[in-house]
Amino acid sequence: TEIDHDQILHNLNSQQKRAVTCPIHQSTLVLSGAGSGKTRVLTSRIAYLLKNCAVKPYQIFAVTFTNKAALEMRHRISQILPETPLNDMWLGTFHGLANRFLRIHFKMAGLKSDFLIIDPDDQLSIIKRILKEDVKENNFYTDKPKAIVNFINKCKDEGKRSTDLLINPENHFKQLIYSKYEKYLQQENRVDFGELILLTKELLDREIDLRVHYAKQFRFVLIDEFQDTSTLQMDWLKLLMDKDGSNQTVHNCFMAVGDDDQSIYAFRGAQCVNNIDEYLKALYLERENPEHIIKLEQNYRSTNVVLEAANAVIDHNQSRLGKNLWTDVKNGEQIGLYQGTDATDEAKHVVERIRDFTRGHPDIPLSQVAILYRTNAQSREFEQALMNAGIKYRIYGGIKFYQRAEIKSALAYLRLIQNENDNDAFRRIINLPARSIGKATLEKIESGAKQNQCSLFSFLQSDPSLSKQKKIVDFVRLIKQCKQTLEEQNPKMELYEQALYIFEQSGLMESYNKKEEVERLQNLSELCNAMKQFSHLYQTNDLTEYLSVVTLDTTNAQDGKLDTSDETTRVQMMTVHGAKGLEFHYVFIAGLDLVQDLFPSNFFGTCDIEEERRLMYVAITRAKRLLHMSYSQLRSNYGQQERCKRSQFISEIPTRLVHVYNENEEIYQPPKKKLSTVQPMNTSTQTGFVTGKNLLNVAQWNKRK
Ligand code: ATP
Ligand code: MG
Repeated sequence: TEIDHDQILHNLNSQQKRAVTCPIHQSTLVLSGAGSGKTRVLTSRIAYLLKNCAVKPYQIFAVTFTNKAALEMRHRISQILPETPLNDMWLGTFHGLANRFLRIHFKMAGLKSDFLIIDPDDQLSIIKRILKEDVKENNFYTDKPKAIVNFINKCKDEGKRSTDLLINPENHFKQLIYSKYEKYLQQENRVDFGELILLTKELLDREIDLRVHYAKQFRFVLIDEFQDTSTLQMDWLKLLMDKDGSNQTVHNCFMAVGDDDQSIYAFRGAQCVNNIDEYLKALYLERENPEHIIKLEQNYRSTNVVLEAANAVIDHNQSRLGKNLWTDVKNGEQIGLYQGTDATDEAKHVVERIRDFTRGHPDIPLSQVAILYRTNAQSREFEQALMNAGIKYRIYGGIKFYQRAEIKSALAYLRLIQNENDNDAFRRIINLPARSIGKATLEKIESGAKQNQCSLFSFLQSDPSLSKQKKIVDFVRLIKQCKQTLEEQNPKMELYEQALYIFEQSGLMESYNKKEEVERLQNLSELCNAMKQFSHLYQTNDLTEYLSVVTLDTTNAQDGKLDTSDETTRVQMMTVHGAKGLEFHYVFIAGLDLVQDLFPSNFFGTCDIEEERRLMYVAITRAKRLLHMSYSQLRSNYGQQERCKRSQFISEIPTRLVHVYNENEEIYQPPKKKLSTVQPMNTSTQTGFVTGKNLLNVAQWNKRK
């Protein structure tokens, strides 16, 4: 293979080598531009520690930005060190690591062992229910449920519980709902994403012995994409430096790698420059000391043209730490630029370019082509154009696969069978497929359970009048029987077989089949495929584990699976946020008319043009060889066409680097009016993947029966 032992260092330049081999008591910060090999340094450092410094896997705590990155890292390290079992290594995203931590210390954290992780969608429906049930007497309130969810998440990101908030008349209502929501989560043994991090941090803060234990265990703490660490995450990391319980941060060996120019999560509480200063302070590092801050200047990813464009754009930002990037790859091709008449035309052009490219480069897999956009809503036109051209694609993120009704219902069955106290899952499937359990019965169950302070499912079984009804008896038996079968299976069924068994027994598949809902069936099939891959990657058939991972995965843009052979034949589509850390041979940046209009000043507080520009920088620097930019003159908004203007970022790129495709056409001069409606971008609800084609066909399913 590409890597063998001595090659840990072979493939590195001298600065990278310095970072990888720095003394094991020395902490460092690697601060450098896109594509300069920061992630490679981090991976090599781990391999180096394990191989050359007698470090044990359990002594390593490494944070990546996505699960995909974590899997790739693990894979690379195991290639270098095939003999070393890596399961003890703590390598994952902040959320994944917090989950692992809380699964071990659930009691101390005030949770029950089978606590469930809820996603932003669940959050929203919980808030809606609280508003409906608990505060209906207070029918005058102006806060929308979504705004309340955002408020709560922001508080958690800042480490604040409802009781930590100062009484503020403006936020009074939101604060009230926050406290009700907290109580609900506690009662139901639920944990949302922010809570995972917050609980972990609070636990380490409170339990000195525990803190000291972990601070001693994790002698090596490594962090990728450091610029986007939130305040709360940073506080958590600082607790891992405390080896004697004094909170005076006796430090372990830390290595953080990042790029201030790629800080794109400020709206979510990441404070790049503050972070860097705090980090330096906590570790007694000096900004000017080259031993402490290592800078990498050679870019290995992109051509000179791509890099020059990226540098030219980011140079317009004032708040930068400043750095210099160069590349050896000369004679890069010019950057394509296309002005579409409308979004459909823009998409059509992009697809034509992709076609040309694949004809000219049959050796390069389609997965090396990526279409990047600002918001998920933009994907539709490209999906359509690609489908028309018969090109397969994959979407990372978006309200897609895991948010689809049938997937949620299927997962609800798994959840209820795994944990009978899961009331949300219960509500979702009690009458699905239809069992003529009507509204009145449901209300009776709800109020009865509330009175008896028990779960809906257990009330169902204990209530004398309900528990005699046939439809109820059947439902209870169904859940119990599935659970029992899964527990008694011998040999153990594979995870996806367990799921399939449940989908069959529950009548879910049959009901979709009857209604000929082919797409839903295909999605269930795809869910089984995903579970199979999960079992393979995580080496487990445990349902509880699957459910906690899937909830985390589905909300992170590019999380999921490592490339399988089929994946290489698909064009990749994702938001720019989701593309962080990735690279592609050919990158299309689409919708460059929208870029600055998407965040009007009232959406997140302020429209930060510098943050938008960093986003553009991230987008450009994903390209290895070819880059293409496009925008439209007209865009539809609730069916109404409007004129729009192209992004100023295009003009920030020197014209000699750009090849304009439709040069002869009149370039439209935009009117003053801006696009009025906004597609709010919400990275936290991005989900797994949607594939253009699915595998199961109904005939096959029928045969199985
Ligand atoms: P980003 O800021 O986008 O996360 P990065 O700094 O993490 O980028 P990497 O992804 O580690 O950069 O590296 C970029 C590309 O350059 C990868 O394909 C990597 O394999 C390659 N690379 C890194 N260092 C070297 C090197 N010394 N020699 C050859 N190729 C390298
Ligand atoms: Mg990287």
